[in-house]
Amino acid sequence: MALIPFDDRDGSIYLNGEIIPWRDAKTHTLSHGLHYASLVFEGERAYSGTIFESRLHTERLRASCKFLDFDIPISDEEIEAAKQAVLEANGIVDGYIRAFCWRGSEMMAISAQHTTTHVAIAAWEWPSYFDPETKMKGITLDVADWKRPSPESAPVHAKAAGLYMICTLSKHAAEKKGFQDALMLDYRGYIAEATGANVFFVDDEGVIHTPIADCFLNGITRQTVSKLAKSLQMKVVERHIKPEEMANMKECFLTGTAAEVTPVSRIGDYEFTPAKTSRSLVDGYEDLVRGRISL
Ligand code: PMP
Repeated sequence: MALIPFDDRDGSIYLNGEIIPWRDAKTHTLSHGLHYASLVFEGERAYSGTIFESRLHTERLRASCKFLDFDIPISDEEIEAAKQAVLEANGIVDGYIRAFCWRGSEMMAISAQHTTTHVAIAAWEWPSYFDPETKMKGITLDVADWKRPSPESAPVHAKAAGLYMICTLSKHAAEKKGFQDALMLDYRGYIAEATGANVFFVDDEGVIHTPIADCFLNGITRQTVSKLAKSLQMKVVERHIKPEEMANMKECFLTGTAAEVTPVSRIGDYEFTPAKTSRSLVDGYEDLVRGRISL
């Protein structure tokens, strides 16, 4: 596979108050963020030039920093302006925005009370290739061995780099077995989420079930899709779901900024047939992000 490395591209990146050439957006190898995972980030999407739920992402970025005991040195308004400036500098209309903050190099030890916080925002083209037919075939997931940790073991509501260590390991293991992603259970054995997206199921009466986000990221897309489903008169139940309950579920889909609404055809040995409910939410989400409908 010919990869275009992310550190060798044309374009511009926001770094600590300035928009600079893409290849110059560097940090030192001795950075607390790199060694101790004191880094938080956001993944956002722009549709036709507008960042979907931009403000909520900015607020979550700040909340994630606070979970890791640091703060962003700029205001929400400045972050909003910087995101727009990055989109404009790169001429991006439909794209992905990655905003991130990390502790710098002043201290290189566990204690990091006096580090400065760095802020960067990058964006790249990511057209939403909306091909409902292909999407409706569904993706396949294996069930991961790694479990989402308890809120007593990690700052589980932060979108923090360290929490992705087990996601990468789970996704690699699934890919090696021919699956596209992995479903992670939580520390109690309940269904939690995929490695970078939340999960929903639909039962034989059309009722939608999704795990309570009490030990994983309560995705902005998850919340949007729940609202969308309710506006379409669908019933949404948030509850603890045991893996064996998947035998009774007819449809399954993932939600996330990158995944949008992605139907699932298989998780381990359980099979699902993406149908009416998934289809309405795939289409409804597209209408929503494109501003054709509002909730
Ligand atoms: N869970 C994880 C682990 C994620 O990485 C993401 C993607 N940010 C989500 C859930 C979905 O969150 P959102 O809908 O806010 O993108």
